[in-house]
Amino acid sequence: MKKILILLSVSILLFLSCKENKNTDKNSSITTIDSTMNTNTLLAEWDTQFGVPPFDKIKSEDYLPAFKEAVSLHKKEISVIVNSKEKPTFKNTVEAIETSGKMLSRFTSVFFAISAANTDDVLKETRKSISPELTAHFDEISLNTKLFNRVKAVYEQKETLGLSAEEMRLLTEMYKGYVRAGVNLEGKDKEQLKAINKRLSELSTTFGDNLLDETNDFELHITDKKELGSLSVSLIAGAEAEAKKRGHDSGWSFTLQRPSINPFLQTSPNRDFREQLFQGYALRGDNDNAKDNKKILLEMANLRAEKANMLGFETHADYVLSDAMAEKPKAVYDFMDKLWPFALNMAKSERKALAAMMKKDGVEGDFRGSDWRYYVAKLREERYNFNEDETRPYFEFTAVREGVFMLSKKLFGLTFKELKDVPKWHEDQQVFEVLEADGKHLGVVYMDFFTRESKRGGAWMNALRQQSNVDGFVTPIVTNNFNFPPPTKDTPSLLSFSEAQTLFHEFGHALHGLFSNVKYRSLSGTSVPRDFVEFPSQVMENWMSEPEVLALYAKHYKTGEVIPAAMIEKMNKANSFNEGFRTVEYMAAAYLDMNWHTLKTPDAEIDVRKFEKDFLKKMGLIDEILPRYRSNYYAHIFSGGYSSGYYSYLWSEVLDADTFDEFKKTGNIFDPTLAKKYRHMLSSGGSKSGMELYKEFIGRSPEIAPLLKKKGFE
Ligand SMILES: [Zn+2]
Repeated sequence: MKKILILLSVSILLFLSCKENKNTDKNSSITTIDSTMNTNTLLAEWDTQFGVPPFDKIKSEDYLPAFKEAVSLHKKEISVIVNSKEKPTFKNTVEAIETSGKMLSRFTSVFFAISAANTDDVLKETRKSISPELTAHFDEISLNTKLFNRVKAVYEQKETLGLSAEEMRLLTEMYKGYVRAGVNLEGKDKEQLKAINKRLSELSTTFGDNLLDETNDFELHITDKKELGSLSVSLIAGAEAEAKKRGHDSGWSFTLQRPSINPFLQTSPNRDFREQLFQGYALRGDNDNAKDNKKILLEMANLRAEKANMLGFETHADYVLSDAMAEKPKAVYDFMDKLWPFALNMAKSERKALAAMMKKDGVEGDFRGSDWRYYVAKLREERYNFNEDETRPYFEFTAVREGVFMLSKKLFGLTFKELKDVPKWHEDQQVFEVLEADGKHLGVVYMDFFTRESKRGGAWMNALRQQSNVDGFVTPIVTNNFNFPPPTKDTPSLLSFSEAQTLFHEFGHALHGLFSNVKYRSLSGTSVPRDFVEFPSQVMENWMSEPEVLALYAKHYKTGEVIPAAMIEKMNKANSFNEGFRTVEYMAAAYLDMNWHTLKTPDAEIDVRKFEKDFLKKMGLIDEILPRYRSNYYAHIFSGGYSSGYYSYLWSEVLDADTFDEFKKTGNIFDPTLAKKYRHMLSSGGSKSGMELYKEFIGRSPEIAPLLKKKGFE
């Protein structure tokens, strides 16, 4: 289990969650917008290189009016389909719905990307106001009985229409989407469902805003340099700059942003300060103040249960998983229950070693959660003589970026050309044209590396424009976003090993979007089941740490020396310690997600803290380990699209370990034949089921043995 588990791309799913309803009318091309709106860049034609969004001209104030206009246009397009006098056909109904709302989809992709990566007060307000409206708009379409009856008419004669495999998939998915959206509900129930969706959307936005504020508000200000322990020069400089920014004349400020809190917990010898930061992190959204998230998440869990019941599913998890590779909650619990005892045992033996080390250190009292990372770092240094910061000079961020580009070349023949003059949403962004081996244009990737207040935490990928091929081939434009430490006056941005892994991970998502080669947008790129979506990203982490690949890019930023093999070996040994902890904290969160979403009926009486605590006790989780996300800051499931889906990372890990093992078996980790098959699988997007694609690629069902071996669980 990798640290990257945390980081995933909630934003992709923001769009995926609209997938079922992504509608647009092919007759209304983007150029037909009313000329009075031309002053709004969002609604005008974008005559930029490759049609990228003109970020230099778009103002935050443009989004709200553009949204209103695009929604109203979409409504007109839908009404043309609904009121058509012609008999419903695949083309005039299914394809017409699929290709409607082109303007709206162009606008929402850009809006959600920028409001995650470079937000401001106007964008925040806009998001609050449009999220529920957008939900209501798509509800209106997916609950439109007349429209559904046309789709149903086509669906009922699907076998006789001579459809291609992809057309059949589009039709089936669309039909299922309507049923799942509740189109079969009548009258009052239908109104109730709309109200629930709107409320859920509002709650989700508030949950995320509260979390961002609670994260930013916290500060640990230190005035004595010795409390900083062995923090690296660049992190000390960062903390000094943070203190100035927060109005202190001197000292160092640490925050709950991961690049700040993680190194502090690993290196500060001051137990009390570690405990303050640790508790600050754990209590975000649980401080019984105006930003508390407990009531919000409980209302969400209840509304989700109520909605699932209305749609004929026993629980929200049943509803969500009916669309996943796993299909049923039982499959998820069964799969996790197999791994849990191994992981927990390993975590317990790790605790023993760490507590002994603390004792040896002369520290009295109980070993605590806030001691865990500090003693892991110490143990690694003592037992393996390894400190993760030693590797940073070898992972300067530009070198790592070049590493992932070189890997893409070795596997798929891709090359990258920086586009210096295209508009960006922030000056830190770097933009690249991606080219095939024969020089053909494949797509564009935007990379935004550094942490800042206007960006939400974690790392993610999303599409600014998805590939499609209905009226001509539309090439993809994708983004990768990170929260790496920015360069300081004296040092470039030097990544930890796990941050470097994150870069490879997100680029795997980017490739999934870039390789897309299907006809319909709603089946393209990363529009795949959630328990498949992390597979193409996690698999990249395997290559990243292979000696052959490290030799290509992991070079000392001053001397150019390749990272020594001995250091890698030491690191691998050191990293395998704590695998129990990593798996357990992740799985505890994955279980928590499933527990919130297997509530059979709404229950307003639940005490959120107790619900969480009782369950963790039942699982035998040890006190020193918190779930990777406590409920009150579980953004993946309460402000992202991951409810009943956090298990997916582990599920995908089975696939990624199995895949890389297959490459190894060929004796060449860049095996061109296998790489070609792998690319073919990615290029199919969601045009087939995940299991079908996987079996086509590897020639059999996925096997769990390579993952057990990788984790040392055998
Ligand atoms: Zn991911």
